[in-house]
Amino acid sequence: MQRKIHLLSDETINQIAAGEVIESPASVVKELVENAIDAGSTKVTIEITGGGLKLIKIIDDGGGMSLEDAKACILRHATSKITKAQDLFSIMTNGFRGEALASIASIAKMTLVTALEGASGAHLEIEEGKVISEKPAARTKGTTIQIRSLFYNVPARKKFQKSSTAISAEIFRMVILLALGHPEVHFELISNGRKAIKTTLLGLEPRTQELLGDEFTKGSFPVEFEEGPLCFTGILGAPTNTRANKMGQYLFLNKRGVLCEPILEAVREGYGTRLEERRHPIFLLHLNVPADLIDVNVHPQKLHVRLRKEELFREKVQLAIFSALQTSKEPPVARGEFTPTRVHFEEKVSFRLEEEEEPIQQLPFEEESAQFMGQVGEFLLFQREGKLLFLDAEAAAFRSHFENLNKNQDLASQRLLIPFSVTFTSVESAMLLTHLDAIEAFGFSLKPIGKDAFMIEALPPFLDESEMQNLLQEMAHDLQEFIGGKDYANERQEKLALRLASSVKRKKHYLPAEALQLLKSLEACESPLHCPKGNLTRVTLENDKIQELFRADQKAAKSP
Ligand code: ADP
Ligand code: MG
Repeated sequence: MQRKIHLLSDETINQIAAGEVIESPASVVKELVENAIDAGSTKVTIEITGGGLKLIKIIDDGGGMSLEDAKACILRHATSKITKAQDLFSIMTNGFRGEALASIASIAKMTLVTALEGASGAHLEIEEGKVISEKPAARTKGTTIQIRSLFYNVPARKKFQKSSTAISAEIFRMVILLALGHPEVHFELISNGRKAIKTTLLGLEPRTQELLGDEFTKGSFPVEFEEGPLCFTGILGAPTNTRANKMGQYLFLNKRGVLCEPILEAVREGYGTRLEERRHPIFLLHLNVPADLIDVNVHPQKLHVRLRKEELFREKVQLAIFSALQTSKEPPVARGEFTPTRVHFEEKVSFRLEEEEEPIQQLPFEEESAQFMGQVGEFLLFQREGKLLFLDAEAAAFRSHFENLNKNQDLASQRLLIPFSVTFTSVESAMLLTHLDAIEAFGFSLKPIGKDAFMIEALPPFLDESEMQNLLQEMAHDLQEFIGGKDYANERQEKLALRLASSVKRKKHYLPAEALQLLKSLEACESPLHCPKGNLTRVTLENDKIQELFRADQKAAKSP
């Protein structure tokens, strides 16, 4: 009788395992960098070419390995991190399955050079999971691993890889995550010979500022919490600095970037009513939790985690966030004092609530009946039906441009008489190329010329040539959040519209016709009350409110 059942070879087993752990070059980078960090490195350098499909090289200054360990580390279930199943529940390091190197070695060609402190090093060439040559090597303490021709023997996997530019961007984001998770370690990423990331600062706040920039940290609040075994620290974005999706949320559990919906939800609850509906806060949170309270083994790439005592965690996180935001309040604006430039946050919310209760008063406006009375600094003053209307010119322009751009209907484009060229980093240009159609839909015309450079031939008419480099770079950074995502066309549209609209500057001086036009286009918007960042676009002063400002008796009667 013919045998149907047979055991799989080790090589096949490794390749199958590789399918789970190693989805893309970015997962290789993650596994190798985590190993380097576990080995106690203070600096990790990552070099990639061709999006990592050609080469991934990780250089660390960690503890290194002996020749025996170097030979053993590519064997399946070879690990220095656990010896028995029970250890799985108390492990604090990044890896523990002893699977990554075996998997990677089975689907790529590998060179491993490693040395222990004060010992002579070893140089191994590995193919198809086996050491094919070994020789001594001169190296200071640490490890260098080169991965070449990734997926060369699993063509199906290779076929499913994105373009090398898109993968580079994915690796870029992965390295940023690792660097935010380990602010005590220095990172450098070199892509196709060009420096893409190089950290210069240590510590969570400087690192966040360095990698995520002002856009993230502006108006942010620190949060710190410690109680019994649970402790966390982080940076909370301003409640007005929100996003349409959760991409600005960085959660680390014992330094590992993870997805844990209940905790994200708890943070949101901590912000409470400070957030506008359907907007998501941005934050970076490092939770440190005893290992026996987490189960990270539910996901092969250790991305999803499960928490024991989840309710307790949620409650603590929510409260800590709530009180961190509470202590950061600005002093309230005095009653009756009219200060449109410094509308307090609470004030904003109540404005909105009032207006929502009486929608008839608010829309539609007959803008014809408004009369432009003049300009006071950045505010345009109108009179309409016995009321004074202050328009924040910039917020109003922001709102109306944003809605127009977001609808993306018949957007104008202005051809340049003299096109000019702009150069980007390779990650930036990868992003621009990947999303070129979406960018050009706004009225740009960008022609790729040479390496990472574009010729700008047309612009949306409201933009200035001098801002192009900055603006496109910022758009490229925004676009990174869609790496690897699905069905993001609408979010992308909104994101880019937001970026473009926010770079529209208000005019210095408004002619009456321009002021009225601005008011009109604002009031044609779906959400005319706030600019997309949440600032009020206009403040109406009714007659009795004006009287109240003048007359002592009315003031007294109104105050509690
Ligand atoms: P795990 O990290 O789960 O233990 P890996 O396959 O990723 O499994 O690594 C196997 C072993 O190889 C590790 O436990 C560690 O002892 C050793 N190792 C891997 N990378 C390094 C490195 N960069 N420096 C020192 N030792 C390393
Ligand atoms: Mg590992």
